[in-house]
Formats: sequence, structure tokens, C-alpha cells
Amino acid sequence: MRFAPFLFWAVVVVALLLPSLRRRMWPRRPVTDELVKDPVCQTYVVRSRAISRWRAGEPVYFCSAECLRRYAALT
Ligand SMILES: [Zn+2]
Repeated sequence: MRFAPFLFWAVVVVALLLPSLRRRMWPRRPVTDELVKDPVCQTYVVRSRAISRWRAGEPVYFCSAECLRRYAALT
């Protein structure tokens, strides 16, 4: 039980430092989680989970493969 106070403070220090460490290691994460609009069903999707296709030099994002298929059929 001699190490119990040390372990407690180690956990407290790690818990306090972890958010700033994560921000330093992945600073672009909030940008990749930006919301994008699906042009087919008008739904907003998180960019990292959306299906993207390049059209006329710009990325277009879809919520599902079904919307991508419908978009491809329209254009
Ligand atoms: Zn959709």
C-alpha cells in the first residue's frame, strides 16, 4: 500500500494532461468532423463518415451508397 498515493497522483496527472496531449497529437480532428450536406436527401452528415466523390473539382458528400447511386443517376 506504499505506492497507493503515488498511483493516485499519477492517475490525476494523466487525467489532467490527456486532453491537451490529444489536442496536440490530433489537431485536425475537429476539422474532419465537420458537417457536410448530402445533395440528394438534404441530410447533414459528419464528413469523416460520409461517402465522398469528386465532381467538377469539388468534393460531394453522401450519407449512404444509395444516395451516391441516386446522385450518379441524376447527373
Ligand atoms: Zn442521403
